[in-house]
Amino acid sequence: MNNIIFLGLAGAGKGTQAQILSDTIGIPMVSSGDLFRFHLSNKTELGIEANKYMSIGALVPDDTTINMILQRIGEEDCNNGFILDGFPRTLEQAESLHKAVNGQINCVVYIEVAENELVKRLSDRVICTIKTCNAILSKSAIGGIDSNCPKCDKPALSQRKDDLPEVVENRLKTQIPLIKQLVDYYNNKDILISVDGEQNVDMVESEIQMKLGINQ
Ligand SMILES: [Zn+2]
Repeated sequence: MNNIIFLGLAGAGKGTQAQILSDTIGIPMVSSGDLFRFHLSNKTELGIEANKYMSIGALVPDDTTINMILQRIGEEDCNNGFILDGFPRTLEQAESLHKAVNGQINCVVYIEVAENELVKRLSDRVICTIKTCNAILSKSAIGGIDSNCPKCDKPALSQRKDDLPEVVENRLKTQIPLIKQLVDYYNNKDILISVDGEQNVDMVESEIQMKLGINQ
C-alpha cells in the first residue's frame, strides 16, 4: 500500500512534486483543490453543501471536506494507494483521516522552504495593465516593477493585490501554525520525511525518491 501525504506551505512546490511522484509510481494524486472544483462544477451533493458556505464567504466545514476526500480515496483506482495534496490542512482533518484509514498512512513528505523564500516566490508575479497586452511576468526576471513592460514597452506594470508581498506574508502567517501542528503530529508517528524544497525541481524530486526508497 502506498498512502502518501504531501505537506508544505503555499509556494513550496508540493503540487508539482506530488504530480511527479504520482506519474513515477503510478499511484493517483488526489488534490483537494481539484476535488472541490469537481464537486462544485458537477453540483454533487457535497458540492451543493460546500457551496452553501462558500457563497456567503464562510469556511467550508471540516466534515464536508473530509467526506469529499474519503469518498475519493475509496474509489477503485485508489486500491493500491493515494497521494494527497492539499489535505489535511488542520489537525482535526489529520485525525479524521487517520481514523478512516485505520492508521494506514505510509509516509508524509514535508517540503520545507523558508518563509522569506516563499514570499519571494509568491510575490514575484507582475502583470501589464495595458488591455491589448496583458502580459504576465516575473518581477525578478524583468528587473523590478518600475521597468517598462518587456512585451509592449509601456510603463504599465502592476501587481495584483493577492500577489503583494504583505498580502502573501499574511496568508503564510495563518498557514504556518497549522502546518507546524501537522508536522509534529506526523513526526510523532514516525512517518514524516523532510525534504529541502529550496533546491531546483529535479533535485527535490531526487531527494523525495531517494528518501522513499524508490529505485529509478
Ligand atoms: Zn505590456
